[in-house]
Amino acid sequence: MRVLFVTTEMDDFIRVGGLAAVSAALPRALRSLADIRIMLPGYRDVVEQFTHIHILGHLPPLAEMPACTLGVGATRDGLPVYILLCAELYERPGNPYGDESGRDWGDNDLRFGRFASAAAELAAGSLDKNWAADLVHVNDWQAALTPASVLEKLKKGNARFVEKNMRSRDWMAKVSATAGGQYPFATILACMDSRAPIELIFDQGIGDVFGIRIAGNIVNEDVLGSMEYATKIVGSKLLVVLGHTSCGAVKGSIDDAKLGNLTELLAKIRPAVSASGPGNSKDDAYVTKVAQANVSQAMKEIHEKSPTIKAQLDAGTVGLVGAIYDVSTGKVTFLPD
Ligand SMILES: [Zn+2]
Repeated sequence: MRVLFVTTEMDDFIRVGGLAAVSAALPRALRSLADIRIMLPGYRDVVEQFTHIHILGHLPPLAEMPACTLGVGATRDGLPVYILLCAELYERPGNPYGDESGRDWGDNDLRFGRFASAAAELAAGSLDKNWAADLVHVNDWQAALTPASVLEKLKKGNARFVEKNMRSRDWMAKVSATAGGQYPFATILACMDSRAPIELIFDQGIGDVFGIRIAGNIVNEDVLGSMEYATKIVGSKLLVVLGHTSCGAVKGSIDDAKLGNLTELLAKIRPAVSASGPGNSKDDAYVTKVAQANVSQAMKEIHEKSPTIKAQLDAGTVGLVGAIYDVSTGKVTFLPD
């Protein structure tokens, strides 16, 4: 069995706490049973201790995360150690998590998101042509993309959109980079409204997010099935239900409009109308209130109707948040839990 042991500290090279001792001891204890290899970020203190690092390959930028390089060296007793080299993220004074005065680095979401995404590619066999992992051991949140860090990425992306500071993107480079597979970190259930294009309003590129778009961002079995695929099979870390202001589907449901197949779709929004008390579709504030109730309703249904997603939410491996997009300002407001 081939095991990738992903950790942010190891007694051989760098120590902050007890994790470093575990990372030094456990792989050695398993060594006789498995082909076990360590992966560490290329902190300056780590890189300096290797006499030779063999470069295996380069990773292109991913979302907000810069390009990086994967090398491989070994401990004194010959355990292979993969090292993720990225001067911008890891070569700085201080410890793996914070500066010399002990404050966490402000870009820890990028530092550890980069590390975790590279670990995923290495494990899948796309970085070391001679090796892939059967099993991945990840130590602590730094080694795994977390729902909280993914939410932060979306918030930052929308802030860039609103501030007219969107990233310049080489779209065709991302087309090439993602041709072999996709690892979207978030899944967004949004309305079909042409004024709320999700990649643009969160400033994301090709391969970054799954989009499920349907009038009124309602939940049905097909939507739940798509979300189950996104989280359980592909590993998307965050589910977002995104409603928006001035939503035509919400207005139609308030008015109890009837038209062919639309009738049944609008009926799915009726519980949110009932929960919002009396009002009418000409009142923008009321329409927004119903849109929010409709987002809450969708979140509740996801919990209740998908045991697969509920189990991941309970385990904390996937997050679920609601949000409202304002079509007049471009701003996404995340709703409180
Ligand atoms: Zn809408």
